[in-house]
Amino acid sequence: MSFEADVLHRIREVLGNRDAFVPLHAPEFHGREWEFVKDCLDTGWVSSVGSYVDQFEEHVARACGTRHAVAVVNGTAALQIALVIAGVEQGEEVLLPALTFVATANAVVHAGAVPHFVDCHDQTLGLDPVALGLHLDRIAIRKNGVLVNRETGRRLAAIVPMHTFGRPVDMDALAEVAAEWGLPIVEDAAEALGSRYKGRACGGLGMVAALSFNGNKIITTGGGGAIATDDAELARRAKHLTTTAKQPHRWAFNHDEIGYNYRMPNLNAALGCAQFEQLEARLEAKRKLQSRYAAAFETFDGARVMGDTPETEGNNWLVTLRLADRMAEKRDILLDYLNEAGVMTRPVWTLMHRLPIHASNPRAPLPVSERLEGLLLNLPSSANLARS
Ligand SMILES: *Cc1c(COP(=O)(O)O)cnc(C)c1O
Repeated sequence: MSFEADVLHRIREVLGNRDAFVPLHAPEFHGREWEFVKDCLDTGWVSSVGSYVDQFEEHVARACGTRHAVAVVNGTAALQIALVIAGVEQGEEVLLPALTFVATANAVVHAGAVPHFVDCHDQTLGLDPVALGLHLDRIAIRKNGVLVNRETGRRLAAIVPMHTFGRPVDMDALAEVAAEWGLPIVEDAAEALGSRYKGRACGGLGMVAALSFNGNKIITTGGGGAIATDDAELARRAKHLTTTAKQPHRWAFNHDEIGYNYRMPNLNAALGCAQFEQLEARLEAKRKLQSRYAAAFETFDGARVMGDTPETEGNNWLVTLRLADRMAEKRDILLDYLNEAGVMTRPVWTLMHRLPIHASNPRAPLPVSERLEGLLLNLPSSANLARS
């Protein structure tokens, strides 16, 4: 059997022999979505005010283990505002992985700052604390108490780890590096709702975190995002900035800075409240799906399914197949073959520094990211695939 036929065969062991196309990750609505959304329509509370937004924020805060959460229009906007309230200013640099979805880097630009790409760790697929530390030793220097990149002269303002496909980064080691240099951690937890690192929830591991509730994420509000933090003042700033920076008043329109209209509509929050009620069941189903895939590839030496470390309990948002190094040249053939067979699979993102829009931004050496780029594939990961 050819390599690609063998991989398909093993995937089919998990999925069964379906004729229908199997999507990568489909949204699922098995709870009270109709009831909550209908309630919005019946009461007229569809837009920027309504009780579902408050409830949704409580759900987010509980899931992230934070005291506060602010619901916004999408994850990209959440990350932009998270950066701003963490103190990132115009023309400063933000350290983030080269291996990420483009929104992480774009949000840095939206905040007026410059993305600075760092390598990821071979196993966590997230920012590598050792590579980050070595890179800072090389480029960072304190000038008049300000940490700057000696090559560009720009202030280094924050570190943005991202939990790739819901797999937690090694946050304690990153936090040590961050503390050593006095850099705040802004967590891109867009993919990691429900993931845990040493028992602590992702989304609550840094100064502030951004989450996404886009249609392809583990639970969805249609489109949406949230900012989570323990810090009451940061949460207040986030709410203020995302709601046109209007000073509270019964009737006057006083805005004390250039704010954003980033609030999440009540309709979307209603959908999200119903989705949150299904989060635990979904995590359980996805755990089951991941372990079935892992078993199907256990005896295969061409590829294996990535799993948790003793420190992590990922949400298995997208189950990840890692090709053996020698199979890198087969990646595109495999992707063609699987997608042609109706099994939707995707490679990991094109690395940020290879995109012309981000190619001129500063970066560290990226050997691990560049090797992994050719080896990682996502398998169909919808929770309902484990229920059949
Ligand atoms: C989805 C995602 C985002 C952005 O979320 P949107 O809601 O689509 O704007 C940001 N970062 C990562 C890593 C993501 O996967």
